[in-house]
Amino acid sequence: MSYNKKTIEDIDVKGKRVLVRCDFNVPLKDGVITDENRLNGALPTIKYLTEKGGKVILCSHLGKAKGPDPKLTLAPVAKRLSELLGKEVVFAADDTVVGENAKKAVENLKEGEVVLLENTRYRKEEGKNEENFSKELASLADVYVNDAFGTAHRAHCSTVGVTQFVKTAVCGYLIQKELKFLGEAVENPVRPFVAILGGAKVSDKINVINNLLEKVDTLIIGGGMAYTFLKGQGYTIGKSLVEEDKVEYAKEMLEKAKAKGVKLLLPIDNVVGAEFSADTKPVTTDDANIPEGYMGLDIGPKTSGEYAAAVKEAKTVIWNGPMGVFEFENFAKGTIAVAKAMSEADATTVIGGGDSAAAVNQLGFGDKMTHISTGGGASLEFLEGKELPGIAALNDK
Ligand code: AMP
Repeated sequence: MSYNKKTIEDIDVKGKRVLVRCDFNVPLKDGVITDENRLNGALPTIKYLTEKGGKVILCSHLGKAKGPDPKLTLAPVAKRLSELLGKEVVFAADDTVVGENAKKAVENLKEGEVVLLENTRYRKEEGKNEENFSKELASLADVYVNDAFGTAHRAHCSTVGVTQFVKTAVCGYLIQKELKFLGEAVENPVRPFVAILGGAKVSDKINVINNLLEKVDTLIIGGGMAYTFLKGQGYTIGKSLVEEDKVEYAKEMLEKAKAKGVKLLLPIDNVVGAEFSADTKPVTTDDANIPEGYMGLDIGPKTSGEYAAAVKEAKTVIWNGPMGVFEFENFAKGTIAVAKAMSEADATTVIGGGDSAAAVNQLGFGDKMTHISTGGGASLEFLEGKELPGIAALNDK
């Protein structure tokens, strides 16, 4: 899927009311924000719009609210954003999101000032993309900006519905950046192009595997999903994670890779344990086979070496999903080896969101990657080649 969407730099926002859909879905503990990445990620767009004289109205969802829920109010976000921006962010505390507080705050907005609406999921219509709430949101604004890549794969009122009731709908810097790096990697990669897929399940990544086999030179598979592939090849897998109903599919993918001339790499050795626990004794197998009573919890050292070598030869690398149970120190080596190889490669390196982004940051390689996507589900759907409704709904250039 390639997009050519208008951005905030293509429009004039001076004196206009600009509704910006952000991704302020931050982790909270006792009302305190424990990770500010998403707030920092939103700043460039907000700063640009205020500097250009826009009257900025921010909105976002937070958590899985199914109606008003004081634990999921965006009030702490307004407070922290005010500090980060160095200017007041007025919080419109309406349980109906677009209520009297919001309307009054928007009416009073002057150029360069900022208002934040309450959690859009306080309205049950949000997740169903119902027209009434979309119209209410649109009534506050002259222009709509979507900068929430993390929810771009969902058709909600604040991501899709609202665009039908405003004349201008464009993307912000964050979405523009995601489209540039994910889009260029998938549609126009400098070759060799290597994709690394891991994580728990084949079933979560079926369409990603299928789509990437059309595009890559090498597909590397690790993590829990590798054992379904190994089983398909006739190896013993002990009590490793396996999806019996996907073994046939795994075989088909191996066939497809062969037919397309894509190198598909599977583990040639494993680090196994008797139990799924951090304390289980790590044992390295000689080859891909896993003995009875053991489960594969990481790729082995020979595999790590082979995968790292393939990564270092690449000019474009995309990675989604850890190579093992990286949360357990004894089984993190494979994931670390791949992250390290990517950080040293002379290549464009792109990390899909979710667990791989967490792993890369946690292991200290975050600032060595070209791009770490901010959207787990959205980046996976992008890699599947699916249209992202929140982006498709924006104005074309
Ligand atoms: P995903 O969300 O599909 O990317 O999966 C990430 C999760 O897969 C992490 O929590 C890993 O601990 C887990 N995982 C990776 N390798 C294995 C494995 N060999 N067995 C069980 N779980 C694994």
